[in-house]
Amino acid sequence: MNDLLMVIDMQNDFVTKNGVLYFERAEFVKPVVLDIVRNRMSKNYTIIFTQDWHEVEDLEFKRFPPHCIKDTYGSELFDDLKEIVRGYKNSIFIQKRRFSAFFGTNLGEILEKLSPSKAEVCGVDTNICVMYTVEELKNRDYDVVVYEDATGTYDEKLHLFAIDQMKNVLGAQIEKWR
Ligand SMILES: [Zn+2]
Repeated sequence: MNDLLMVIDMQNDFVTKNGVLYFERAEFVKPVVLDIVRNRMSKNYTIIFTQDWHEVEDLEFKRFPPHCIKDTYGSELFDDLKEIVRGYKNSIFIQKRRFSAFFGTNLGEILEKLSPSKAEVCGVDTNICVMYTVEELKNRDYDVVVYEDATGTYDEKLHLFAIDQMKNVLGAQIEKWR
């Protein structure tokens, strides 16, 4: 059994000022995510970092402004996170083009091999990529812990809605890290 942390889409376009889909709550989320990642690195957890990863003309841009274009600054992890995970052996990067980190990726096989005792989840946006990834984790019957204070989105009501759905509909455990 492996210990697993999943860090969802902590990329410049979402959490760095001037990012295309930046929202202010990100300023509260970033330090908590850094804390969790440092702690889990010290315990040698496997850490999966997902990255929203789009072609220039992705159809998703009919609904959202162009963001997280592959191989640009906007699609990189935010600077402080990128710095602390540099060289960490137990990290896996999943680049995805849709909300769920399972869609069109090999995440399913990776998790089957890892067979984690549970999946801890943090990152953004709570009601989009976090929730749709947690849904897929629960479809596969993984135990999931979501650190609420290490998640966030552009609208507080949607954040609370998503936390409630993940807890009461999907059956994820909701905890605060701090
Ligand atoms: Zn996207």
